[in-house]
Amino acid sequence: MTEHPHVEIYTKEDCPYCDKAKDLFDEKGVEYETYNVTGDEELFEEMVERANGRKTAPEVFIDDELVGGWDETSALDETGELDEKLGIARADGGNGDAKGRSEGGGGDPEHRKLIVSGSGIAGLTAAIYAARANNDPLVLQGDEPGGQLTLTTEVENYPGFPEGISGPDLINNMQEQAERFGADVEMGIIEDVDDTSRPFRVELSNGKVFTTDALIAASGASARTLSIPGEDELMGYGVSTCATCDGAFFRDEEMVVIGGGDAAFEEATFLTKFAEKVYLVHRREEFRAEDYWQDRVQEKVEDGDIEIMKNTEVTEIHGSPEGGVSHVKMVTHPEGRPTEKPDHPETEAFDFDVGAVFLAIGHTPNTGYLEGTGVRLDEDGYIRTAGGKGGGQTKTDVPGIFGAGDVVDYHYQQAVTAAGMGCKAAIDADEYLETAEVGGASAAQESAALSDD
Ligand code: NDP
Repeated sequence: MTEHPHVEIYTKEDCPYCDKAKDLFDEKGVEYETYNVTGDEELFEEMVERANGRKTAPEVFIDDELVGGWDETSALDETGELDEKLGIARADGGNGDAKGRSEGGGGDPEHRKLIVSGSGIAGLTAAIYAARANNDPLVLQGDEPGGQLTLTTEVENYPGFPEGISGPDLINNMQEQAERFGADVEMGIIEDVDDTSRPFRVELSNGKVFTTDALIAASGASARTLSIPGEDELMGYGVSTCATCDGAFFRDEEMVVIGGGDAAFEEATFLTKFAEKVYLVHRREEFRAEDYWQDRVQEKVEDGDIEIMKNTEVTEIHGSPEGGVSHVKMVTHPEGRPTEKPDHPETEAFDFDVGAVFLAIGHTPNTGYLEGTGVRLDEDGYIRTAGGKGGGQTKTDVPGIFGAGDVVDYHYQQAVTAAGMGCKAAIDADEYLETAEVGGASAAQESAALSDD
């Protein structure tokens, strides 16, 4: 039996990325030790020291060497370096070199009838329907397996769960359901799609190549950041885009949550479990958050757990990886959007002491891999689909490529609407696969599905 290196994973409770890290090693059949730092100060301090001051879980070590959190671990997996460190052949069945490249080594790319990019609620719903329609879907998980929902706490508005259901549980159930009907779910991030020939050629960031007759783009959206000084340097050291993941590490600290939408309100409410006090910082007077969340936050305001700072923006984050966040610089203006009025006499800048900063300022669609194809994107990078009434609503400008979920929808962005779009995309893809001469010239020559209006 091969001896694997010693893998250690520091985890905490309610930690979706910890589960992803464990799943990754489980998939590879690699044993690991876990240390749950929740409620164990000593273990937590040990993790922070070994992780060079980072206060976020998971933290993965291989033979005592720090790999990092989920982002670093999955990035290493993508390049094949993780498997090299573990001394194993690729778990994804890569049919080429150590980096899983399937070309250059003489092997043909693996062909799939349908690839679904993204394993959030839209992608998994598409997979359930596609598998039941015998379209043999391969779901490529992307770099945020399970999508946004794995980062939320309770989902209370998904129909059918009167008591609510946790985001990760809902996603796990959907994946199980898709797999039960024969869908394959694999790690993999699409880097490039070549739509100039049929079948499409789909290249992953780990070098693996597939061909596919149809593609459902359900690759969701990733958390936006502010691009302000200190943000990158302190990401993971007190700056976070995921309150559910990191909130517990800043127990008894004062915390800032930035944003005025549902996510900011939900995160601020969640963080009151740990924080000395939460400051909800929003750049203007009105909130986007729905009344439900506004009412819940108002209750916390009345209890003194949350303070709302309107018409205020954070412009700098200060601290160090060793000591975490010490304070932020903010600006305020009575009419909002203060950073747009730096020289106005009523604009005031001030320092504010906090121990952690959570960004909840929306998302950017993950569509980089579609640039250069005929799929039309809007100015923010969202996919333009046909929409309207009747069949074919999820068609893009490229016959055989469909869009569903947050990668299309900048407006509703709800779990249930994403699921609905995933279902529509699978039905549209099924119709395409039934009628188009996939692999032949006719599909390639089909006229664009969309009109310009
Ligand atoms: P939203 O786009 O709704 O809100 C983003 C917020 O961040 C806005 O208030 C925006 O301000 C602010 N913002 C954006 N950029 C900046 C910036 N550069 N500096 C300062 N502030 C900025 O995103 P959410 O992630 O909150 O929600 C997205 C979708 O997901 C929504 O449809 C929401 O309903 C849904 N959702 C639902 C939840 C639920 O429990 N039902 C939970 C979480 C999300 P401004 O308002 O001025 O533009």
